[in-house]
Amino acid sequence: MAADETSTPTTAEREGILERAWLDGTEVALDLAVAEVADWVAESGSIVVLTGAGISTDSGIPDFRGRHGVWTRDPEAEKASTISHYLSSPEVRKVAWRRRLTSPARSARPNAGHLALVELERQGRLDTLVTQNTDGLHLLAGTSPERLVEVHGSARGVMCVDCDDRADMRVALDRVEAGEEDPACRSCGGILKSTTVLFGESLDPADIDAAGEAAERCDLVLAVGTTLNVFPAAHVPRVAQRAGARLAIVNGGPTDADDGADAVLRGSISDILPRLVAGPA
Ligand SMILES: [Zn+2]
Repeated sequence: MAADETSTPTTAEREGILERAWLDGTEVALDLAVAEVADWVAESGSIVVLTGAGISTDSGIPDFRGRHGVWTRDPEAEKASTISHYLSSPEVRKVAWRRRLTSPARSARPNAGHLALVELERQGRLDTLVTQNTDGLHLLAGTSPERLVEVHGSARGVMCVDCDDRADMRVALDRVEAGEEDPACRSCGGILKSTTVLFGESLDPADIDAAGEAAERCDLVLAVGTTLNVFPAAHVPRVAQRAGARLAIVNGGPTDADDGADAVLRGSISDILPRLVAGPA
């Protein structure tokens, strides 16, 4: 369709996303595929949702690995996210604290995509929401903590690497703002880090188990805003499909699991997700 100069651009157009869709590998109109997957959602009593950075870009949080990603532009940011560098270098920690202070994630608010998943839970269809994101926006939107698995942890908390004392990130950032460049644990003087999983740290086995078990028992997986190329995100759809579940992918671009998916919806996540949970047309 030719763009009309006077028409209002859709969210996808504003974001430079080319809307496309496939059902069982056959390309169809996006609206048709959205209606089909909305039917699957309405029929399902047990959905696992997997989310990645793409669901939060409409909240102003940049993707780490994407074309405009933080690490693509700034290797220092990646260094600050590696546990051995972080623990051994006060300079790396000072950079990390300054970065946290100015991070867009600090003031980010949930968008329509996050809120649609809260609605899915309200409808009683959400088994488990597994997220790779550390921005805390699912909790902020209202998803129940007991339904949420944050496999890479959360940037909304801090912990002491020596005594495991935990506190709200805001408290630590207030200290940085007041002039402490590398605030230490108030209980033992140890190094404080955010409660995210840094490079070189292990994921929590309990989180991996929870994600795997949910994948086994669900009848539909919605993979949202993730390219599905890292563990355990890549693992969940595979386990679920092997156990007989359907897989629907919602993303702004191609993913590693598009080929085997029952539905691929390519477009604006914050536009598509609310339509999927609104019920059959
Ligand atoms: Zn401590």
